[in-house]
Amino acid sequence: MSGERKRIEPARHFIGGEFCDSVSGRTFPTTSPLDNEVITEVSYGTAEDVDRAVQAAYHAFHDGPWRKMNGKERAKLLHAIADGLERHADELAELEVLDTGLPISQAKGQAARAADNFRFFAEMATRMTGETFPVEQSFLNYTVRTPVGVAGLITPWNTPLMLATWKIAPCLATGNTAVLKPAEWSPLTATRLAAIIRDAGIPDGVFNVVHGYGETAGAALVAHPLVRLISFTGETTTGREIMRNGANHLKRFSMELGGKSPVIVFADADLERALDAVVFGVYSLNGERCTAGSRLFIQRAIREEFEAKLAERVRRLRVGNPFDPQTEVGPLIHPEHRQRVESYIHSAVAEGARMAAGGVVPEELAAGNYVAPALFVDVRNDMRIAQEEVFGPVLVSIAFDDEEEAVRMANESRYGLAAYVWTRDLVRAHRVANAIESGMVWVNSQNVRDLRTPFGGMKESGIGREGGHFSFEFYTELKTVHVALDKHPIPKFGAASV
Ligand code: NAD
Repeated sequence: MSGERKRIEPARHFIGGEFCDSVSGRTFPTTSPLDNEVITEVSYGTAEDVDRAVQAAYHAFHDGPWRKMNGKERAKLLHAIADGLERHADELAELEVLDTGLPISQAKGQAARAADNFRFFAEMATRMTGETFPVEQSFLNYTVRTPVGVAGLITPWNTPLMLATWKIAPCLATGNTAVLKPAEWSPLTATRLAAIIRDAGIPDGVFNVVHGYGETAGAALVAHPLVRLISFTGETTTGREIMRNGANHLKRFSMELGGKSPVIVFADADLERALDAVVFGVYSLNGERCTAGSRLFIQRAIREEFEAKLAERVRRLRVGNPFDPQTEVGPLIHPEHRQRVESYIHSAVAEGARMAAGGVVPEELAAGNYVAPALFVDVRNDMRIAQEEVFGPVLVSIAFDDEEEAVRMANESRYGLAAYVWTRDLVRAHRVANAIESGMVWVNSQNVRDLRTPFGGMKESGIGREGGHFSFEFYTELKTVHVALDKHPIPKFGAASV
């Protein structure tokens, strides 16, 4: 694989409209999940680089044209970014495959979504409104939304381009400036995106990228006093630490964190469609998906038949080189992550779960971070494999007798990101959707997103919602203006005769 590999430019920081190296000159390698060979070098950001980027963003916000532009002008530039993303979609998808191991067919979808994110929020930028609160004849009160300032955007490695644009687009649409800190295991598309943003004509300093590790570059961004907002997507434990570190400056946080999402399949469901959705929901994106339906609750009456069909599908999943358009499951991001996923598989066996199916990794792929997709049955909901986020191609199946038991077990989790319900009983579908503790519920559906709807989790899956006007609420300050329309009484303090 490495022999045929194209030369990839080093991933450098992008600060104040220019690509640059770290102040220290240090770099670190990024490797490909396909074979763990080095792809290229990445600038190693530290607090000094973060400070340069934040200063650039701060000056662009306070002294530059960006925040003063009207929505229409900003929208035009955001559409130009979307045009650039569409023009380079194939190249971006290939870069993402090389850097993350996502199968190409799925990476292409993610690249298209990246462009959609800019188009969607560009349109929204032209439709910002406020509210008025007329107080009879005496006052007219109204609200306006203003940008907040410099935003720190910190993203994970699982779908880097799509997730970064999901933050950058609303952040810029509302007139803020940004510093993106991409994940250290998948930095390549962020640098490519920076060039597209520059070429679209976004003013210098409005968008910046600092590469590096979480504990150094990420932590410095969170701690920087000029950064007003932190939008973070990643692990729950990291989110907790970020909130502690940002507390001194009372930053505003959006937290999109982990999940262990239940899929409840009732006996009366359309079982063929439910089967398709269950398999796709946990094994797509290599199982590295925050909303993966990784805990299946299956009604006892159909359990045997459904699990047998499921096992058959898992055995037949096409695990392979992610550049092959036929591949359904590619390699995991990094050897450390592969070890973590494998250790969960071992712990499941040790806890007494039964592996009903394990996929096959072709021998010629031994150099990559491939893990055979796994299905566990005879699982109890209190096992580690049912409670902790594996973030890999691993599904557990748990039987239930009735609705009450299914809902109780689904809610016995510290997470509450997504849930999926399969039933033909309309009333039950709504009742269960209502009872489940999760930010999002899909009924008789796989994970289909509409960009207007709120996205986010309950419990330890996150704080806040992004998407549609919910993103705009996060990225703007709400200001109320009170205007007196008549001569309302004003007490005359200090005016009494002595
Ligand atoms: P992670 O928490 O390890 O890292 C995420 C980002 O945070 C990286 O850029 C990392 O460098 C940075 N970081 C790490 N420590 C930091 C610190 N102390 N200060 C500032 N930044 C720091 O997560 P990951 O392993 O990259 O991603 C996988 C996780 O992301 C999973 O838990 C998954 O569920 C979650 N995720 C959630 C959503 C969602 O929308 N809810 C979407 C995708 C992924």
